[in-house]
Amino acid sequence: MKNFDVIVIGVGSMGAATCYRLAERGCSVLGLEQFSIPHTEGSHAGQSRIIRKAYFEHPDYVPLLNRAYCNWQQLEVLTNEKVYFKTGLLYHGPSHHPVIKGVLESASIHGLELKELTCEQSAGRYHQFKIPTGFKTIFEPDAGFVRPEKTIVLYHDEAIKNGAEIHTNERVFEWRKDSKSITVITDRNTYQCNKLIITAGAWAAKLIPQIHTRLKITRQVVLWVRPEKGEIFETSLFPCWLVADDKRPGALYGFPYLPKDMFGEPEGLKFAWHHPADETDPDKVNREVSEMEIQQLINEVAEYIPAVKHSEIIATKTCLYANSPDENFIIDHLPGYDGDVTIACGFSGHGFKFVSVVGEILADLATEGRTELPIDFLRLKRFP
Ligand SMILES: Cc1cc2nc3c(=O)[nH]c(=O)nc-3n(C[C@H](O)[C@H](O)[C@H](O)COP(=O)(O)OP(=O)(O)OC[C@H]3O[C@@H](n4cnc5c(N)ncnc54)[C@H](O)[C@@H]3O)c2cc1C
Repeated sequence: MKNFDVIVIGVGSMGAATCYRLAERGCSVLGLEQFSIPHTEGSHAGQSRIIRKAYFEHPDYVPLLNRAYCNWQQLEVLTNEKVYFKTGLLYHGPSHHPVIKGVLESASIHGLELKELTCEQSAGRYHQFKIPTGFKTIFEPDAGFVRPEKTIVLYHDEAIKNGAEIHTNERVFEWRKDSKSITVITDRNTYQCNKLIITAGAWAAKLIPQIHTRLKITRQVVLWVRPEKGEIFETSLFPCWLVADDKRPGALYGFPYLPKDMFGEPEGLKFAWHHPADETDPDKVNREVSEMEIQQLINEVAEYIPAVKHSEIIATKTCLYANSPDENFIIDHLPGYDGDVTIACGFSGHGFKFVSVVGEILADLATEGRTELPIDFLRLKRFP
């Protein structure tokens, strides 16, 4: 039976970065992934993920984001590849909306640069939008998007270069700890390790029965379209955006038009609704997107970006959110295992921008037993 310092279950977003960080520190690492790396079954497919700092979800994320931004840059320097695209992000919404209030609060606490635009400025500079009078428009210049699949491949490759062993298409069925070590059983083999990290995304609760009732897995729909006059939505003219209104919980959001020669398939203007949708089992997801779902999303977005109404539909995708009860991440040692088992899950549809810092945090927790990064608000003790 092979023995490792650390085994990482799930080499998706968080797991790939973690394997790299551990291997870089000289640990013997085994990463186990049930599908290919990357893949389209979990939470990381779809070419782009918004990155922003004025965090309406909770101002305590901002110090982690500052570190994440540094680590994204470090990844780019290390690999000589571009993963972060600074397009800026426009927030639109009424001033009483929790999203708008949260953006302003985080920026004020942490001294972040934001620019408020008047209706006239907004309509002049960003004529692609039709924003109701009475809405606030705020621009965050350092925001943009990162590339999920590319990131995962880069971290995976760097982990391998640093000596990690990573197996694809190998599913973990079970793990257990005895007095000497931790045993991990897969559909192919049995392994042992001193420390275990579980970064299993939407499948986390299947491997961690203690958190089973804490995670709600939801099926999210994403759409890519080609609007008329696609050129006015190019990255140089059109930023990432988010609209929070009183008509629905959460927010609508989207990206500039990304061409396939730079970003791969599908080419187009991508958008979605950020709010937990219908609950599902990650092994039995309905991957078909209905005409009704498509039309509903188009109509909602077209209210704010009219060119979307008569656009050509290029692609649809389903993707999974793993929602914690308060929609904040869960990062901690699992109680009852003497600090030998670390879990990171419940990223609740907003975790990707943190990949570059979560890898560092998990490597800290597994190898040092602690981290200097401020994650207290993400620990399990917040739940009764
Ligand atoms: C539609 C959509 C839009 C999003 N937009 C944004 C955004 O704009 N900005 C942002 O920051 N975040 C965004 N997110 C959230 C972000 O993508 C996720 O929070 C992040 O990808 C979660 O990472 P993860 O490692 O937990 O999950 P994953 O990347 O899915 O990785 C988990 C891995 O574990 C593997 N695994 C599970 N069980 C086992 C097992 N038993 N054996 C072996 N392997 C196993 C899985 O196959 C998978 O590869 C979005 C998510 C979705 C779905």
